Amino acid sequence: VGVAEWLFPKACFGCGAGGGYFCQDCRLKLEGARAICPMCGETSIDGWVHPRCRKNWGVERLIAPFRYTGTLKKGIKRVKYSSSWEIVREMGEFWSRLVVREIGEIAGGTVVTWIPMYERKKRRRGFDQAEILARRFAKEMGVSCEQLIERVRETGAMYELDKKKRAENIRGVFGVKKGEYKGKTVIVVDDVWTTGSTMREAAKELMRRGAKRVWGAVVAR
Ligand SMILES: [Zn+2]
Ligand SMILES: [Zn+2]
Repeated sequence: VGVAEWLFPKACFGCGAGGGYFCQDCRLKLEGARAICPMCGETSIDGWVHPRCRKNWGVERLIAPFRYTGTLKKGIKRVKYSSSWEIVREMGEFWSRLVVREIGEIAGGTVVTWIPMYERKKRRRGFDQAEILARRFAKEMGVSCEQLIERVRETGAMYELDKKKRAENIRGVFGVKKGEYKGKTVIVVDDVWTTGSTMREAAKELMRRGAKRVWGAVVAR
């Protein structure tokens, strides 16, 4: 039994039942999110970018099955202070099954990657939750998972900035590594979508370096 399990015994974040963090009943009751365009944030069928919002270097599709609220929000927040990667692993299992079913197969090759945490933060926590989600998802999809994105400078706190300020704050924050993604679809995984500025910035860099298209896949928004 790890320290996290001793401090927070495994119990459902929704109803308190033992055995796991998200019981079957509470999973079914998670609030679904309506699909939105990853560029403007307005409603869009299956999360495709609106033709009017399409950019050469943008996010083409967003898959975000859940609302960031209730049981799921409780779980994601708990990860941040309990350092329990088991919560992420469990969430990753049911989330990735759902996402893979939704997107089906993509022609022409697919690589999965994620929005990385700061190295310092990762060392303190011991893991990067977006990486755990991405690896689980890639396995479910049967495609490769590589770290393509790295943070090349720090950003200030984002939580109190509006959409425009966030976009300015995030500009130039990511570098993209060489990898086997030229001409392929890159699916970028993250835990939570707020305004999408982080994902759009990552997509811009990936497209600039030769990715054919970039999709975002997050747990909640
Ligand atoms: Zn429950
Ligand atoms: Zn749009």
